[in-house]
Amino acid sequence: MAAKRKVTPALKQYLELKEKYRDAILMFRMGDFYEMFFEDAEVASRELEIALTRRSFGKGGDKAPMCGVPHHAVEGYIAKLVRKGYKVAICEQLEEPKPGKKVVERGVVRVITPGTYFEDEAEDRFLMAIYPKGDLFSAAWTEISSGDTFFSTLNREELQSLIVKFKPKEVIVPQKFDTSVLIEIYPDLVVNEKEEEFFDENLKTVETNVKEELKVLGALNNFIRETQIEFVPKLKAPRRYTGEKFIYFDPHTQRNLELVEPFYDKLSSATLFNVLNRTETGMGRRLLKFWILHPLKDKGKIEKRLDAVEELTNSFFLADELRSELKKVYDVERLLTKITSGIATPKDVSALRNSLRVFPNIKKIISEFRTELLSEISQNFDDLYDVYCEIDRVLVDNPPFTSREGGLVRKGVNEELDKLRDIKENGEKILKEIEERERRKTGIQSLKIGFNNVFGYYIEVSKANLHLVPKDYIRKQTLVNAERFITPELKEFEEKILSAQERIEKIEYEIFTELRKFITENSHRISKSAEQIAVLDVLLSLSKVAQERNYVKPEVTDGFEIEIDEGRHPVLEKLLEDEFIPNNTRLNREERVLIITGPNMGGKSVFLRQTALITAMAQMGSFVPAKRARIGIVDRIFTRVGAADNLSKGLSTFMMEMVETANILKNATERSLVILDEIGRGTSTYDGMSIARSVVEYLANKVGAKTLFATHYHELTELEGEILGVKNYHVEVVEVDGRVVFTHKLIPGASEKSYGIHVAEIAGLPKEVVERAKEILNELENKELKVDYELPLFKVAEERRVNYEERELPTELKRLVEELLKIEISTTTPLEALIIL
Ligand code: ADP
Repeated sequence: MAAKRKVTPALKQYLELKEKYRDAILMFRMGDFYEMFFEDAEVASRELEIALTRRSFGKGGDKAPMCGVPHHAVEGYIAKLVRKGYKVAICEQLEEPKPGKKVVERGVVRVITPGTYFEDEAEDRFLMAIYPKGDLFSAAWTEISSGDTFFSTLNREELQSLIVKFKPKEVIVPQKFDTSVLIEIYPDLVVNEKEEEFFDENLKTVETNVKEELKVLGALNNFIRETQIEFVPKLKAPRRYTGEKFIYFDPHTQRNLELVEPFYDKLSSATLFNVLNRTETGMGRRLLKFWILHPLKDKGKIEKRLDAVEELTNSFFLADELRSELKKVYDVERLLTKITSGIATPKDVSALRNSLRVFPNIKKIISEFRTELLSEISQNFDDLYDVYCEIDRVLVDNPPFTSREGGLVRKGVNEELDKLRDIKENGEKILKEIEERERRKTGIQSLKIGFNNVFGYYIEVSKANLHLVPKDYIRKQTLVNAERFITPELKEFEEKILSAQERIEKIEYEIFTELRKFITENSHRISKSAEQIAVLDVLLSLSKVAQERNYVKPEVTDGFEIEIDEGRHPVLEKLLEDEFIPNNTRLNREERVLIITGPNMGGKSVFLRQTALITAMAQMGSFVPAKRARIGIVDRIFTRVGAADNLSKGLSTFMMEMVETANILKNATERSLVILDEIGRGTSTYDGMSIARSVVEYLANKVGAKTLFATHYHELTELEGEILGVKNYHVEVVEVDGRVVFTHKLIPGASEKSYGIHVAEIAGLPKEVVERAKEILNELENKELKVDYELPLFKVAEERRVNYEERELPTELKRLVEELLKIEISTTTPLEALIIL
């Protein structure tokens, strides 16, 4: 910065702090404001839409661009900046301003970053650390506001899948880390590059195969300490994230199926999460998201959940009672983070108290349930009555927002505090009492207590009564007609009354700090109960949706089949209500690859997705939108959606499509469910069709996965009968009063070869045109397709076709060309060729 600038002490202090927090917007506390200067001021004034001014730093300093926000409103401004991806360093005054001192001491007490902003009510904010381990990656991630912390070691794609699931707001990586793995999937991720020491694992004893995992956990810890400084919250014990327990969704599948996030329109609410979310608590909401993204594979565990949902569905009154208790429970996990970090206000602690108040009743209600999962919760549920009692013993019913100004501790908690409050509130009364008593004691009726600024409270005795003054009175002042005295008691009273308020605030703050400490000591118990509340909340939510939307309990099996009677798409049916047309899904050994044809807008994609969603729902323990469902547990769900559907993404869509397809073929197993929607459309018809066909062949013959394949390539329907397990279906098109109607019914068999022409016919194109179209189609099929299809070089074939079509050839020549094209070059002997010629 400018050497010319006159550096005042305040500016010097500012610049020194700013130097340490260069990548953050420094909010510099000055009295009642947080001020920002220089570039920070320019950014903040733009982002926060507040006025940019200039001010000098102390007397005689240069004028600097500046903007500021009042301290009582700072939280809103911080939220705005952090949500836009900025980091904010909060600098406080660390001492009271004293006369004569040039600058008060200041220091940064916390840096709020996108991944560590734990006061955000609106969003979950994961912070993730990643460290390479050969071809793999170790990752640790935490949602600091709830304290949930995981770690794992995974391959590149699994890492990307994880990032799509947890959507970290901020990532910590070592220097020279190749961030393409992140950027590919999540271009505007906030990335912190840290030197090697930052990842030092601290624990020396451990076997080498978990070294990187300790590094990433260490980095999380360091990052939180480094940023939260004075407000480090207590996290839950890190848990190993074992992907093998759950259905694996690749990153695209999670997006395609719109499980928790809409695909295109970020504001749309058309997600499975939104359909299933009837939770009452923050913990429940987060857990539901987790369950949706992590359907189980263990039959026993799935059944436990399903049984619990069923019991809740059948116990209407109890469930209702439980739900109304849950409504009274705040986001206990977040409150706990605020409390353990020391940022909590008395209001937060009161919210925790009010939440805990209903725990005993919750315990009582759930003791009525009989199914395994609910009984387990009921038996292990810690109702935390002692914690509730302690908070309630100390904290008033309706405490203030701040812990520094008193008024939050109940009467009877602290003797000194009660006395001080008494003094403060009854100062006058107590003075009168002392006065009365002294009059009685001395017999001086005119004795009175007064106050002046020079020596405070005094007892005034008129000259006439001086002989009655007791020995312990200390003379302070002589007036014409009277003398003024003080007593130790009076001085003590004075001292107390003057310092009472200050002292009250201090004692109350100490008691409040003690209370926070007490809660922190019990945080493990509290978060365990909070987790159980979350499970109850999710189960209740699922049972409510099941009732309202007429879902059925699926049967889950370890078998291969998926059988869905009258299945519905959970999201679309909510939009269409009665207009939604249910469809059956039959997938078994004999029919494991379904080729689904039919016109655009016929309902193919919907059918594909509803099958995947119903399967996932069943395995997460939810009832499903169907008349009946039998779900053979799947290990992975893959979806590949055609180029036309995500053209908006630009780039080489065909390349992307092929990469994804390759990935499916490599990773799918016999137990997987594969959804392919129009693959091969990103290239020429012949290329595309050939690829589509060989993909189907491979899936059917080599992988054996249950596959739903929607396609425009009618030729693929030829595979039925040719390859075991392939079966044709199509979406129905009918004519009603001369109009084309898509019934959205899935029926067996291939669609009519020329459904396009068929549709045109129903739509009322003149008969002549329709007939001619059929002719042309026939010609095309007989002439080119056959030839081209057998040629290995599709491109050449295609070019030849184009040339042939475009040229206006004389009829004679045309016939000749036709004859030539019929020649099977690869099988023609030289002699035959000569004969033809
Ligand atoms: P395709 O994949 O065959 O082109 P989609 O599956 O995208 O067709 O369906 C197109 C539209 O048809 C959907 O957006 C929806 O409005 C409607 N639709 C599809 N399936 C159904 C159904 N089962 N019941 C009612 N409407 C449906």
